Amino acid sequence: MLLLRNGSIYDGSGAAPVRADVLMDGGRIVKVGAIEAPPCRSLDCAGLAVTPGFIDLHSHSDLQVLESERTEKALQGVTTEVVGNCGFSPFPQGSHAHELCEFGGGILGRPAGWGWASARDYLDVVAASAGNVRVEPLAGHGSLRVAVAGMRQGPLSGAEMDRLAGLLGDALDAGCAGFSTGLMYAPGSSAGPEELERLCRMAADRGKLYATHMRSYAAGLVEAVREQVALARAAGCRLQISHLQAAGRTNWDLQRRALDEIETARAAGIDVEFDIYPYQCGSTVLTQWLPLWALDGGTEALLRRLHDAASRARIREETEQGMAQEWSDITISGVAGARNAHLVGRTIADAATLRGSSGVDTALDLVMEENAAINVISFNQSEANLRQLLAHPLCSVISDGFYVNGKPHPRLHGTFPELLGSVVRERGWMPLAEAIHKVTGKPAARLRLSDRGLLREGFAADVTVFDPERIRSRATYETPDLPPEGIRWVIRGGRISVG
Ligand SMILES: [Zn+2]
Repeated sequence: MLLLRNGSIYDGSGAAPVRADVLMDGGRIVKVGAIEAPPCRSLDCAGLAVTPGFIDLHSHSDLQVLESERTEKALQGVTTEVVGNCGFSPFPQGSHAHELCEFGGGILGRPAGWGWASARDYLDVVAASAGNVRVEPLAGHGSLRVAVAGMRQGPLSGAEMDRLAGLLGDALDAGCAGFSTGLMYAPGSSAGPEELERLCRMAADRGKLYATHMRSYAAGLVEAVREQVALARAAGCRLQISHLQAAGRTNWDLQRRALDEIETARAAGIDVEFDIYPYQCGSTVLTQWLPLWALDGGTEALLRRLHDAASRARIREETEQGMAQEWSDITISGVAGARNAHLVGRTIADAATLRGSSGVDTALDLVMEENAAINVISFNQSEANLRQLLAHPLCSVISDGFYVNGKPHPRLHGTFPELLGSVVRERGWMPLAEAIHKVTGKPAARLRLSDRGLLREGFAADVTVFDPERIRSRATYETPDLPPEGIRWVIRGGRISVG
């Protein structure tokens, strides 16, 4: 038994706080209200906010959630984390184990030495692990497709499509919370409407979430939203548009049109929502700026093309044409080897100056030198657009955190305190109760978690207690791994895990 006394209870629904006590027993919340202190341990929560444990609806910690020494999410108040996003899962290996690592290594934060034969195997390992959060995995479309057809692009044969559908069915039936796509990442990007509709129907039939990293967040943003809305309409699935944004200065005015599409679809009865992290910069792999055809067949094929003068010239031209950012907007955050480690923290434009070369040539040379394993942080969004997204009633707030060999984006260690400190208290973009809803009750509803995300009797005893006057992220682009301040206790399953 554990009693939290005298806290300000933010129940996760978005309602204004009330002063009350919370009693937990056997991993459940037994009572919320005025409680005569029973003989048990109690924590004095006067002046503190008592909320449901935070739910990170979108991360890439599929491998790190298994490790007890990884505490960065728990230290932010997170008790449940959704992995398997943007099409990347650490399963199934199939007959393409090497390609799976090549496909997922840059996003999952480890180049090799991981992978499970099936979703069930991965879920078993999650259940047995000593990690610090509850894990809800999605089945990543890209990984499933690699298991069927390797890094080959283009349409699947009928037999391959049947195998892909079989793998998704297995993963959802084994306990995955949903299905994700990453339509900017080869080879998942090859999926056409028929492939996606068949798979999304499977998610819909099972009442599971479909989350998508869409085909474009830049010039093609509005068309990409339309494609996903049409897919959700045809398949009848619950659609979550991942990390919505209009990336790159020239595209900032597209955001309002994208939101119009989403609001119109919602009014027409389509269950669509979206999420975003509370930062103006994004984080991904450098190869995302290259034309997709250049990545067909995987890293070896890409490097071969870059060694060929004619195809390099074509890649160079198309990369520059497709840029919504400047090279000075893109900062190198991680590299594979020691040779370019000194460039971590510098922009591609800086690196180009150091080398006496152009931005695009520097980018392509780095891809060659690092075997395509380069992570970057890119300046994507205007502050006004970020505010419009975060404050929108359909928005959940996510970390989208991932690990790199270098300096990770500060969202990995800072998202939730950044939201509650900087966004709510310092900038005043929304009331505290609403921000808490966006990381508790709202994501729980997207996942259809029936006993989490709210402080209610009978719900799981996952609770975060923090000081609303002090909470803040200390993670910056320069020092991204500093833990936050102001989180007092984190309770998972009725046990104190932080504090
Ligand atoms: Zn993504």
